[in-house]
Amino acid sequence: MKVAVIGAGIIGVTTAYELASDGHEVTVFERRGSVAAETSFANAGVIAPGYVTPWAAPGMPAKVLRHLLSRHAPVRIHPNLHAGDIAWMWRWWRACQLHSYQTNRLRMQRLAVFSRERLHRVTRELKLDYERRDGYLVLLRSAKDLALAQPGLASLAELSTRFEMFDAAQCRTVEPDLSPETELHGGIYLPDDEVGNCRQFAALLRAEAQRLGVRFRFHTQVQKIIAGPAPQLVHVYAPPEEASVLLNVSAESAPQDAQDTQPMELHPVTEGFDALVVCAALASNALLRPLGLKLPMQAVYGYSITAPLRQHEGHPDHGPRAGLMDERYKVAISRLGARVRVAGSAEIGGTLDRHDPRALATLYKVLHDWFPGSARLGQAQVWKGARPMLPDGPPVLGASGIAGVWLNLGHGSSGWALSCGSARLLADALAGRPPVVDAEGFGVERLRE
Ligand SMILES: Cc1cc2nc3c(=O)[nH]c(=O)nc-3n(C[C@H](O)[C@H](O)[C@H](O)COP(=O)(O)OP(=O)(O)OC[C@H]3O[C@@H](n4cnc5c(N)ncnc54)[C@H](O)[C@@H]3O)c2cc1C
Repeated sequence: MKVAVIGAGIIGVTTAYELASDGHEVTVFERRGSVAAETSFANAGVIAPGYVTPWAAPGMPAKVLRHLLSRHAPVRIHPNLHAGDIAWMWRWWRACQLHSYQTNRLRMQRLAVFSRERLHRVTRELKLDYERRDGYLVLLRSAKDLALAQPGLASLAELSTRFEMFDAAQCRTVEPDLSPETELHGGIYLPDDEVGNCRQFAALLRAEAQRLGVRFRFHTQVQKIIAGPAPQLVHVYAPPEEASVLLNVSAESAPQDAQDTQPMELHPVTEGFDALVVCAALASNALLRPLGLKLPMQAVYGYSITAPLRQHEGHPDHGPRAGLMDERYKVAISRLGARVRVAGSAEIGGTLDRHDPRALATLYKVLHDWFPGSARLGQAQVWKGARPMLPDGPPVLGASGIAGVWLNLGHGSSGWALSCGSARLLADALAGRPPVVDAEGFGVERLRE
């Protein structure tokens, strides 16, 4: 089949790879100049299936309210919310019921476990060499933090996730550079979990996909999907050299945001495909709404700081060894090669280009608390990303209900952890094959009101 994938974030790249391995002729349209240039750019990189849970959880609304005025709040609500934010929060609040939470948690974790297996298999078979470390340590600063972590422990046990409860001394055996100055009650150690560089993986997998014949069309913004009896058409704005090989030139003027993304002159073109897979994260709604499909997907913003680790003679592994989570502040610390990345914060409302200094201060504080002086913060790269969040948690995978249009989107705070599994399930669905794991609950139907 001739298939178009819209978006080359981690979801689009893994989807293109799986479709090409099934023998499809795949074209990826990406408005940016490279893969993983938006939300997949500098995430925390954590792959911990036992911690892939819906954001809509019992007690969450109260937690959000309690933290509203606190200095290092893990969640912040912007004072100028849009109508869309409020409608989304209402649906999120309804999904916080215990039953919905438990059902959605199981769905997400089932997919996350499969996804990690698939990631390992792809990495092994293709010999992908990207920055990654095994092991994930959840830091509990006090006995109260341990008490609050109990429901999470129950769900780890339910999922048969291997974990060990550590006291402070044991935590320091796996992470010897943890500062002795910061109060540490203990930790939850997950030896089978990991951190990895999502963007680097996406770049390596892109090369493998190209080897299988996938064509990546960068700086090419899909403006419109014209669905109907096959072929499905995508109307794109492409640079001149790309445009010359596409079909059916149409005469509309280039959209403003395509010009913002890339200053070069873009040409409107239309090309036909047997199937389209929308992997455009938050921008998917702009493409799907004209076709009558409106998904309740909102941006939940987060930040990361990435800095080179200081070199210590005779001690090359100085700093964090693998992945850590400060459970109190919900901030992840990840070792990525010779760098450390600190990531966290959940901001509802606001915009991508406006940074909240309080959120960044929390990231610096957590890094300083655990690994003081370990990184060259003068060379730190600060990044803000928009998690594509559906109100109930699981992504949407599979047929859209519109002939020829398929969906792989809405992965929220776990897109890297869910990517390889989601892509495989999507490819199976498109081929009409039974899924390797239960794909119940990922359909778009659950989100229709
Ligand atoms: C601070 C932070 C920390 C995170 N930590 C983790 C973590 O530890 N583990 C984890 O699993 N997840 C994590 N995430 C979440 C993860 O990063 C996202 O779920 C994931 O990147 C989403 O991938 P995506 O491919 O759907 O979206 P994106 O990476 O945003 O890709 C969508 C692509 O579509 C393109 N596009 C959009 N519209 C069009 C169009 N019309 N035409 C052409 N191209 C288009 C965009 O340019 C973009 O490249 C984190 C997120 C944040 C913000």
